[in-house]
Amino acid sequence: MEYWFSEMHTPNVKLSIRVDKQVYSGQSEYQRIDVFDSPEFGRFLVLDGYMMLTQKDEFIYHEMITHVPLAVHPRAKDILVIGGGDGGVVRELVKYDDIESIDLVEIDEEVTRVCKEYLPFTACSFDDPRVHLHFEDGLKFVRSVKDKYDLIIVDSTDPFGPGEGLFTREFYGNCYKALHEDGIMVNQHESPFYTEDAIACQRAHKRIVESFPKAKVYQAHIPSYPSGHWLFGFASKKYHPLRDLNEKKWNARGIKCRYYTTTLHKGAFYIPAYVEELLSNVEHTD
Ligand code: SAM
Repeated sequence: MEYWFSEMHTPNVKLSIRVDKQVYSGQSEYQRIDVFDSPEFGRFLVLDGYMMLTQKDEFIYHEMITHVPLAVHPRAKDILVIGGGDGGVVRELVKYDDIESIDLVEIDEEVTRVCKEYLPFTACSFDDPRVHLHFEDGLKFVRSVKDKYDLIIVDSTDPFGPGEGLFTREFYGNCYKALHEDGIMVNQHESPFYTEDAIACQRAHKRIVESFPKAKVYQAHIPSYPSGHWLFGFASKKYHPLRDLNEKKWNARGIKCRYYTTTLHKGAFYIPAYVEELLSNVEHTD
């Protein structure tokens, strides 16, 4: 008997991954949570039927959403992660000795509990004394915060269900307010390839551009995500992602990565012409 996990990427395209076994299945207050083991992608987490991360390619996403802003900001000490209940972003953040505090705001405590039990390769750093877990809605959390963080990383699900509010003008405006005067916000920014995803990507970018003086998009290749071409948003009050990249300082940290390098950092911001066109009508030119 063959078992396969399938995710519809469009009404006409699906990704199917052969599965050895289902390790966990449960329904939290917010979403369906499933964990599978597979010969190709190893163990993977699925929320409401959507691929969140796989053992084989999560390093790409977690390195790119974390190290790009931290190679630019000269002294990021106070970090806010919204979403990210699997722990992958926190695992990358704790590699920086000069980070002093990491607030993780995850709406669904069940996700973190399941990841601690079944995904130790991402949920491995929650015990770091700098990490403070808050199980609540990130949209509400940022409403009451002012001038507190150097970096906000929005590691959310897609712009529907519990994640919908994290792609709104209100949310981006409140993130702007919650950041210090030289703060940076990075978000998972969907994909430019399939029509529905491209519309969501353009809509989010427009709202970010309306909230931050500098807003660029960068890319990575993530095989288990729809089309494999995945984008991240880099929004900043002051620093430019390329002009203010400090390669020497970041490389001197000696942080071992399997995807991120400061050379790739520069290349990641050179996006295809069709993506530039998709975003050009809403992007600052600088
Ligand atoms: N890397 C994945 C991706 O790109 O789709 C995201 C991984 S992480 C598991 C996404 C997390 O965002 C989930 O645990 C989900 O519960 C959380 N989340 C969704 N909406 C949220 C909200 N409004 N506030 C805080 N966390 C939220």
